[in-house]
Amino acid sequence: TVKWIVESLLSVYDKANLIDLATALSQSGVRLLGSGGTAKKIRDAGLPVEDVADITKAPEMLGGRVKTLHPVVHGGILARDIPSDQQDLAAQSIAPISVVVCNLYPFASTIARPGCTLADAVEEIDIGGVTLLRAAAKNHERVSVLSDPADYADFVKAWTEGNGDVGAALRSRLALKAFEMTAKYDAAISGYFREQYADAAGGDKLSGLPQRLALRYGANPHQKPAQAFVAEGELPFKALFGAPGYINLLDALNSYALVKELQEALGLPAAASFKHVSPAGAAIGLELNDTEKKVYGVDDLKEPLTPLAAAYARARGADRMSSYGDFIALSAPCDLATARIISREVSDGVIAPGYSPEALEILGKKKGGKYCVLQIDPNYVPDSVETRQVYGVSLQQKRNDAKIDTKVFENIVSKDKNLPESAVTDLIVATLALKYTQSNSVAYAHRGSIIGLGAGQQSRIHCTRLAGSKADNWWLRHHPRVLALPFKKGVKRADKANAIDLFVGGELLEGGEKAHWESLQLDGVACSSDAFFPFPDNVHRAHKSGVRYLAAPSGSVMDEECIKAADEHGIVFAHTPLRLFHH
Ligand code: 5GP
Repeated sequence: TVKWIVESLLSVYDKANLIDLATALSQSGVRLLGSGGTAKKIRDAGLPVEDVADITKAPEMLGGRVKTLHPVVHGGILARDIPSDQQDLAAQSIAPISVVVCNLYPFASTIARPGCTLADAVEEIDIGGVTLLRAAAKNHERVSVLSDPADYADFVKAWTEGNGDVGAALRSRLALKAFEMTAKYDAAISGYFREQYADAAGGDKLSGLPQRLALRYGANPHQKPAQAFVAEGELPFKALFGAPGYINLLDALNSYALVKELQEALGLPAAASFKHVSPAGAAIGLELNDTEKKVYGVDDLKEPLTPLAAAYARARGADRMSSYGDFIALSAPCDLATARIISREVSDGVIAPGYSPEALEILGKKKGGKYCVLQIDPNYVPDSVETRQVYGVSLQQKRNDAKIDTKVFENIVSKDKNLPESAVTDLIVATLALKYTQSNSVAYAHRGSIIGLGAGQQSRIHCTRLAGSKADNWWLRHHPRVLALPFKKGVKRADKANAIDLFVGGELLEGGEKAHWESLQLDGVACSSDAFFPFPDNVHRAHKSGVRYLAAPSGSVMDEECIKAADEHGIVFAHTPLRLFHH
């Protein structure tokens, strides 16, 4: 019998480059073992090769389901260079295997074939191959694992140059590649079965939530297929009515995170009105006075306003034009009054931790039953690591779990250091809204509500101006002339909102009326920025919309200038320790 220097095991579905590799290994004195088809191909090329079955003394069985699954094979791969492992091998007459060449049954291309049945897919799940790759990769301190035919040539070169030792660096890279290969393979298998089995609610008997939700399409109608899923457990929400779209879910998940944190920070129910993944409004449920009831268009509501209903009225009323067709988030179970307000607005959907039966009855009738009503598990805790893909590249980060509370605004850098509690509340509302707003962003808040928000602008001053002009517009809507606008009966709420917007944007006040209105100038507004102010123009602009309390991180070369501008206007300015970019 020949004493082979090393043993190799070859078991490949894709037989590309196989003969070149087998020839090179064989010529350098490596013993070749092959599984059925692989051994046959090598033998047909005229090279010496042995069948795995001859070593294991167990024939391939179950139509190929069991080929290499045997202690002789896996003992040979997994044995370390330590005396006890070597003794174990010797006791069983097992030779150590040093090179494993394996690639897997084509699961992904099989399930992509039209007409592929569940049975077809099941048969294509490679068992022994994954085990070979995993075992060899685990023992890469001693074993080389080749999982990709494209690597054979480089491997042979290193093997020849190193006289049978390719070096730890190459073995490590090959091991990582094998691990990635099995991970991707397993992801394809679980993805397939998620599609088959995970849509049905009740996967987990406790909550009855599905693990996956098929979506009509992605961001645009031509982006199909699309889905929402979690890799384990179940989705934290379910649709009680309607079917959410991809952007609905982006809105729902971001807005719910916002209102949940608002309620936690301020102890009152909170609501948000989202459009295109930024808040158009967000608020906590401070009671509305009579003027506010009119401004927010809820003075005619029959039901008494609950704190949650007040929160949504405020959130919806910050920027009514932008909120048209919003996705709503509620921090507390939706009650009758809140459902009434929602029912008469043009809206895409709502997410809340629950619904009273009366509320659900009303919302279930909206849009003929197609209005999207999502219920979220309030105890859900998202993973601390977030991953997404852009242009095929995975980006991963720790979730932004920064807490926005009183402490964030402790470092007051202006001369005036008097930050009343109500201002801290408004700064928390503004800053928390920014945490879930597409950057750059600046928000103005007053009486627990966002009153103007500039999102997604590439320059900060444009955010500050945009948010400021929205705040101005919001304030003008409090003017008696606006509140007294004589609309014909039957004019739709959205048409009224648009008309009021035109009115407050174009109508010039003159004489005594102008002076009177100016004497009522909005004051005491809080303003927060998701990153530092690069120039003091932002501070000056904020002042024009009644800002008295300002929060932004430090770090600008213009910090001193910005503080000077704040002092000039008597603004209380807090440097926060947090930048809050969100994309
Ligand atoms: P061959 O063409 O050599 O007969 O089969 C090679 C394929 O079988 C490779 O894709 C390899 O991953 C797979 N394979 C190797 N051992 C086993 C086993 O024990 N069970 C199963 N199901 N597949 C195996």
